[in-house]
Formats: sequence, structure tokens, C-alpha cells
Amino acid sequence: MSKAEYTCIVCPVSCRITVEETADGLKVSGNVCKRGERHAIAEHTEPVRMLTTTVVLHGANINRLPVISTAEVPKRLLNQCIGELYTVEVSAPVKCGDVIVKNICGTGVDVVAARSIG
Ligand code: SF4
Repeated sequence: MSKAEYTCIVCPVSCRITVEETADGLKVSGNVCKRGERHAIAEHTEPVRMLTTTVVLHGANINRLPVISTAEVPKRLLNQCIGELYTVEVSAPVKCGDVIVKNICGTGVDVVAARSIG
């Protein structure tokens, strides 16, 4: 049975939360609230993160377009997602929220433009 400690990043209190695998399932302690419990269990079982990066942009006065995922993606797929976005090139104009990549790496999550470029 393993035991791990996580810092909750849900709010600025930053509780130190322990997740222990027991015969009865996961035992969580150190959290002040339920949101922290959910975060710690997710960190222990399948950590997820928002994906933010840039892609190549043509036809504008800047050459990179900031993009963001519409939801969190599994942390283990972040490098693969970044690799896919590394090959993407878009042309201005782009509106904030335009879908740049649909269903990135089969996660069911889209990546959209994080700002408008005229
Ligand atoms: S457990 Fe609750 S109070 Fe503590 S950092 Fe997480 S969200 Fe904030």
C-alpha cells in the first residue's frame, strides 16, 4: 500500500494532502474541503492539466498565436499534445475561441485561440 503527499493547487491556502492506498480504498487526509479531496485523488490516479502554448501564425505582426485547451487534459499526454501543436500553422485573421485543433490527441478536448489577431 503506497502513500503520497500533494500540495493542493485549487485555492491559495495550499493544503498539504496525503493520499494513502488502503485495503478499503483511498484514504485522504490534510484537506480542509472536498475540492481538495477531489484534487488529491485526481493527482494520485490521473493528474490533469490545462494546456497552454503557442502555434505558428502567418500574416500578422506577431509570429506565434497563444492557444489554450477548452478543458484539462491528462498530464501524461501533455508532451504528445505539445508535439501535435508544434506542427500546426494558422493564418490571420483569427478570433479568440476559434478551434485550432479539434480533439487533440484523442482526448476529446479542443485547443482554441486564446486571443484575436486581426
Ligand atoms: S483543500 Fe480546500 S482549502 Fe485546502 S487548498 Fe485545497 S481547495 Fe483550498
